[in-house]
Amino acid sequence: MAHTAYPQSYYAASANQAPERPALEGETQTDVCIIGAGYTGLSTALFLLEQGFKVTLLEAAKVGFGASGRNGGQIVNSYSRDIDVIERSVGPKQAQLLGQMAFEGARIIRERIATYGIQCDIKDGGVFAAINPKQMGHLESQKRLWERYGHTQLELLDATQIQRVVATDRYLGGMLDMSGGHIHPLNLALGEAAAVESLGGVIHEQSPAIRIERSANPVVHTPKGKVRAKFVVVAGNAYLSGLVPELEAKSMPCGTQVIATEPLPEALAHSLLPQDYCVEDCNYLLDYYRLSGDKRLIYGGGVVYGARDPADIETIIRPKMLQTFPQLKDVKIDFAWTGNFLLTLSRLPQVGRLGDNIYYSQGCSGHGVTYTHLAGKVLAEALRGQAERFDAFAGLPHYPFPGGRLFRIPFTALGAWYYSLRDRLGV
Ligand SMILES: Cc1cc2nc3c(=O)[nH]c(=O)nc-3n(C[C@H](O)[C@H](O)[C@H](O)COP(=O)(O)OP(=O)(O)OC[C@H]3O[C@@H](n4cnc5c(N)ncnc54)[C@H](O)[C@@H]3O)c2cc1C
Repeated sequence: MAHTAYPQSYYAASANQAPERPALEGETQTDVCIIGAGYTGLSTALFLLEQGFKVTLLEAAKVGFGASGRNGGQIVNSYSRDIDVIERSVGPKQAQLLGQMAFEGARIIRERIATYGIQCDIKDGGVFAAINPKQMGHLESQKRLWERYGHTQLELLDATQIQRVVATDRYLGGMLDMSGGHIHPLNLALGEAAAVESLGGVIHEQSPAIRIERSANPVVHTPKGKVRAKFVVVAGNAYLSGLVPELEAKSMPCGTQVIATEPLPEALAHSLLPQDYCVEDCNYLLDYYRLSGDKRLIYGGGVVYGARDPADIETIIRPKMLQTFPQLKDVKIDFAWTGNFLLTLSRLPQVGRLGDNIYYSQGCSGHGVTYTHLAGKVLAEALRGQAERFDAFAGLPHYPFPGGRLFRIPFTALGAWYYSLRDRLGV
């Protein structure tokens, strides 16, 4: 079923104005046809347009309809699995390249916001919060690891210091990353879409790609039209649903849920997060939260394997919020929504080519706001013939999900149960 509107969320309710973008009708020709107008597609489009390519973006629903318009808004550096895991699975040169890139996505976001004047409530500063000594030890080694790759805007916080940045007694320490931060995610996507159009790029909404004719000159079909291109970039991530079966076999859509409170009185908002940093804890099934521009607490957490929409999101997330901030017990929840990210077995992104002219990037496994912006740059470099950084990503191992499409959900839920038990036991 075609989606003509955004799902209800705080972001949809506070979105900046955007034009209607008509569906593709008839035949058109371009250099690069990009499937999906989330951050991956939009970032790729912007880098390509800046380098003089002709670009057409096909979006099944609306710009930012997927995870990019629904996420926690947290600018989190590095990847869902860290560089030490990468170091163990690939050679030193590849690890060096990927390690150097681990903080680049956040810089790209800030450059985009500055260059194109995007209004998306950006704030600097993100905190990783440790619930137990093991997590604190992990943050200490993570800081050393990141510094080894030149990422130095990091500060460890002890129990007293973390209480000065977040008003809860749940944490015994943390790490502050001043190159992290937070944004209104849908407004970032809408601003990037406007930037794409300002450079001559074409975006068709309500235009799902339903078939790709793979040949020396690929053709992407939609219900009412087709795009002939030199290259295709597949950027549908967790919402791709069946277009490219070989990508689906090695990834799994998962839902995560978010609530937004009513706007908090200024003093209460300030008391919760005095510096207005965003916070995520270090659990495997993590909680993440921040203040919006109009001082709501936006609180996310939980994972639903297989991306079914849970019946009552507030019942799942509100208790998590109250565990962190019992002082919000009388506060009303104005919005609750869910969105899908794409999990891979290694929790590292999957980047590659299908044949010579179809490129893809997917599966950042929950931490994708920065990675997707970097992916756009790396894909654009590869299309221009500079594939060194693309190859560093493409060389990461891709594993099929155990159990195949039928049993991947129970297998993964079992794994998640095991990790959440470890979170609760603090081991
Ligand atoms: C609720 C939630 C909270 C999150 N919080 C954070 C966070 O705080 N920080 C963080 O770093 N990451 C977070 N993430 C992850 C992050 O949002 C994603 O990794 C990132 O937005 C993925 O961007 P994308 O462009 O690859 O995919 P998406 O944004 O999902 O975009 C894919 C687009 O492709 C379109 N599409 C799919 N198939 C087709 C087709 N056949 N034809 C045309 N169009 C198609 C879809 O409609 C969609 O618009 C969160 C994710 C969710 C769901």
